[in-house]
Amino acid sequence: MVVEIQNRQRPAVDLCYQGHSSQGQMKQVLTTQQNSNKQVSIANCWDNGTSSWVVTWKRQPWSESDLAQWADLQQALQNIHPTVGHDNWKWIGIEENTFTVKDFKKQLADISAATMGLNNGGGNTTIESLWNSWIPMKVNFLIWRAVNERLLIKTALKHRGIPNIEEGCTWCNIGLDEPQHLFIRCQVARFICSIIALWCKTPQLTIAQDLFVWIDMLNNLDGSKEKRKTIKSIAFTTIWVLWLRRNEEIFKAKGIQIQSSVEDIKILSFLWVSNRSKLRGLT
Ligand SMILES: [Zn+2]
Repeated sequence: MVVEIQNRQRPAVDLCYQGHSSQGQMKQVLTTQQNSNKQVSIANCWDNGTSSWVVTWKRQPWSESDLAQWADLQQALQNIHPTVGHDNWKWIGIEENTFTVKDFKKQLADISAATMGLNNGGGNTTIESLWNSWIPMKVNFLIWRAVNERLLIKTALKHRGIPNIEEGCTWCNIGLDEPQHLFIRCQVARFICSIIALWCKTPQLTIAQDLFVWIDMLNNLDGSKEKRKTIKSIAFTTIWVLWLRRNEEIFKAKGIQIQSSVEDIKILSFLWVSNRSKLRGLT
């Protein structure tokens, strides 16, 4: 579901809802210098002559977070030409104007199939290779974004042309700040993963050197369906906690603590699986 914000009379900050910037600082900086004392409308940011977005800043976006949000917003606004009419709610689905969860999953599957090349045991690429109902949607989306190169990581920011980005891994400074390294190959991630692998008695968690191979391995573990789904939940929770720790290190200069990270993975996966499955919990 997307909303196409088109009405030029709306406040310019509403443009943030078009992209991923709704929760970010972009709302605070997206206001023109000339109109800093009053609310700026979308019309103020749209040049009808050149059919393009023109924004002058009250405060130039400068931080990594600002620049990432601005890049996202620009991308989201690429094909939007504001009008004097009403905004549109639009579901870009298989059946026009009808949103269904099945349709939503099908779309994700199509995107995944086109970009990931995952092998789900029998040569079929399916969204089931990623989607896991025992963990929160935000974690599923993190995994999906990681394998589809949609994470706002340093290498992606540099690729978008944002200057002065140091691409190195935050923890080891050997690899790059990109999903394959961050989640699978980095020695810090591997050490944490090895402790988790011991805890859930699944040494395979540490064998893969590639994110896609790792997910394939998770989809093809031995054991009951419940056991496989539990291990997959723990593995995805590991990715989630690594991502949180990476962000804390970058944005809060908070060094990673191995022991507390491991505890967080155990606690979160226990809570999520206990609450979302019929299982009583992990042992
Ligand atoms: Zn590293």
